Amino acid sequence: MAKLIVSDLDVKDKKVLIRVDFNVPIKDGVIGDDNRIVAALPTIQYVIDNGGKAILLSHLGRIKTEEDKAKLSLRPVAERLSELLKKPVTFVPATRGQELEDAINNMNDGDVLVMENTRFEDLDGKKESKNDPELGKYWASLGDLFVNDAFGTAHRAHASNVGISSNMPQAAAGFLMEKEIKFLGDAVENPRHPFVAILGGAKVSDKIGVISNLINKADRIIVGGGMTYTFYAAKGLSIGKSLVETDKIDLAKQIMAEAGDKLVLPVDNVVATEFSNDAPHKVVEGNIPDGYMALDIGPKAVESFKKVLADAKTVVWNGPMGVFEMPNYAKGTLEIGKALGELTDATTIIGGGDSTAAANELGIAPKITHISTGGGASLEYLEGKELPGIAAITNK
Ligand code: AMP
Repeated sequence: MAKLIVSDLDVKDKKVLIRVDFNVPIKDGVIGDDNRIVAALPTIQYVIDNGGKAILLSHLGRIKTEEDKAKLSLRPVAERLSELLKKPVTFVPATRGQELEDAINNMNDGDVLVMENTRFEDLDGKKESKNDPELGKYWASLGDLFVNDAFGTAHRAHASNVGISSNMPQAAAGFLMEKEIKFLGDAVENPRHPFVAILGGAKVSDKIGVISNLINKADRIIVGGGMTYTFYAAKGLSIGKSLVETDKIDLAKQIMAEAGDKLVLPVDNVVATEFSNDAPHKVVEGNIPDGYMALDIGPKAVESFKKVLADAKTVVWNGPMGVFEMPNYAKGTLEIGKALGELTDATTIIGGGDSTAAANELGIAPKITHISTGGGASLEYLEGKELPGIAAITNK
């Protein structure tokens, strides 16, 4: 369903509330990676270039105690935004009240204002995260228009996305939201074939919804990472000390029966005696020996996965192939990332923090068609779920 986009709105002279995703890594007031701020720039720039007043709302981390507030203020983010936009940005250290209202009323066309972390409201009964009706209504009253550009929180119904949307006559998607919906939506609903999904990471339980939704849409589903060994157990292979979800073995059997040879498992693995980079390790095919745990896919698995990828036209990748944080078990993940970067005639999509980190480490990010800014949100999208933040945006 096509959504109303920020460029459909007449923003001139309007107070435009924009929900952005400025949930960046931050330590001692220093921003680690500003990708999410950069990703929000086109929408902000569009609003101010067209004579609107941009009032930005975002959450940052989780606020559980009064002390969290000092660590998770959006002030450094507003400063970084000012550098990126090359213009002053007003920061208001409040999420409601006179100071905020006065600052908004004093804005000129083309001005940018960032209000304090929306989750400061969580200290008082989780008002933001539980979508308190009064809070959404109040925030909506501060603006004339609402644009939601925070794909990263679209899988949650919070006051700052769904709450505001439901108190406005219309809610539009920002350009980042539009891009996320386009690429993930096309991959799931209208992929170019062969469509290959690569799923890794620790747990089957986290990816089960994605596998079930993609079984009938994808041509191949490559499985790697810790979740592999629950499938190994379901096949009757021995798994040694590898990660396993025993309560998911039956489900894994069902998936294998349904998917047939669509499901591609690694034929060999790097196994180690301990969960440690320095533990003795070796490559084994099939059964994992007693006393060993599988921590990465092996070289034959890499080759077979590359073969599956070679003629793919759409690839979605979520989750590492092994414990890629440890150099001795990073090879599988890095090789798959490299193979993805080398595909020239395929739409390639990466979701999830670990796969994105691998893509950045390899320097292949520019060769990837779309790197999603939402981990949880992209997974839920791939599961075929309706995301409340997106559902609340007006249909065209
Ligand atoms: P997820 O958050 O589900 O995407 O899982 C990512 C985590 O899975 C990473 O921290 C990896 O270290 C971990 N992981 C990947 N493969 C394995 C494995 N074979 N055994 C244990 N942990 C793994």
